[in-house]
Amino acid sequence: MIVFKTIEEMQAYTKEQKQNGFKVGFVPTMGFLHEGHVSLMHRAKQECDIVVTSIFVNPTQFGPNEDFERYPRDFERDKEIAKNNGSDVLFYPSSSVIYPNEAGTKLMVTKRTNRLCGEKRPGHFDGVVTVLTKLFHIIQPDRAYFGQKDAQQVAIVDDLINSYFFPIQLVICPTIREEDGLAKSSRNVNLRDDERRIAPQLYEGLRGAKEKAQKGETVNEVLQWLYKILQRLEYGEVDYVEILSYPELQPVEGFDQKTIIALAYQFEGARLIDNIIMEGVR
Ligand code: AMP
Repeated sequence: MIVFKTIEEMQAYTKEQKQNGFKVGFVPTMGFLHEGHVSLMHRAKQECDIVVTSIFVNPTQFGPNEDFERYPRDFERDKEIAKNNGSDVLFYPSSSVIYPNEAGTKLMVTKRTNRLCGEKRPGHFDGVVTVLTKLFHIIQPDRAYFGQKDAQQVAIVDDLINSYFFPIQLVICPTIREEDGLAKSSRNVNLRDDERRIAPQLYEGLRGAKEKAQKGETVNEVLQWLYKILQRLEYGEVDYVEILSYPELQPVEGFDQKTIIALAYQFEGARLIDNIIMEGVR
């Protein structure tokens, strides 16, 4: 596996691979890799000739009081994981490579940001589309791999790719979970032991909510039920619980279309998100 830290090296490499007729798959990450990231690398390896994984903790997608400083980092460990799981290239730029100067043009997400993490983390998705636009231009992949765990991000990136004609196919991969159901996340290491013990109840709540929806309970009933379950947890606080159409993220009256049940929960150690997407039930 090759590690590149500069734009010039990365761009020259992809250009050559593409000239040789190879298909390039791209897995963007913020590092501290886990099986969720690994599943994206494996999928990319199956479908592409070359897999480029990037590790960049993107400062512009963190708010002023968020966990940018505390975000876990371990490059040597990540390098081993990426190498052993099909990555051919690790792109590991510094902040000054990605943000060398104040850009005179800004990207702003205008759809889907008044809900979920868009509402709770103002400017977050502007940072996400900004860094992805840069990474897409540097790496020029044929396909880009994203996890369903970040369902709002996937919907926004799909819009970015389509609206701005990036010649990239978006591939969405299922959420990988711990054995007890907790969605894998780099942030899980920042949970206190007692928080980690109760964290699987987030997904249990989502599963319970889905079951209630399938049994015919109304959107409001399901929402109230899930909210109550989460409020009763011993530690932490509900950041949001919402039931919306997917991928549009509009309010829904019933479960007769594709729907997302999504939550964010603030523990002391980390803020976690999770979701379940349901096909329409009648
Ligand atoms: P992150 O490093 O958290 O920014 O995530 C990088 C990519 O991995 C994003 O596309 C995430 O959606 C995806 N990802 C993170 N956690 C998981 C997971 N538990 N299962 C599947 N994909 C994940």
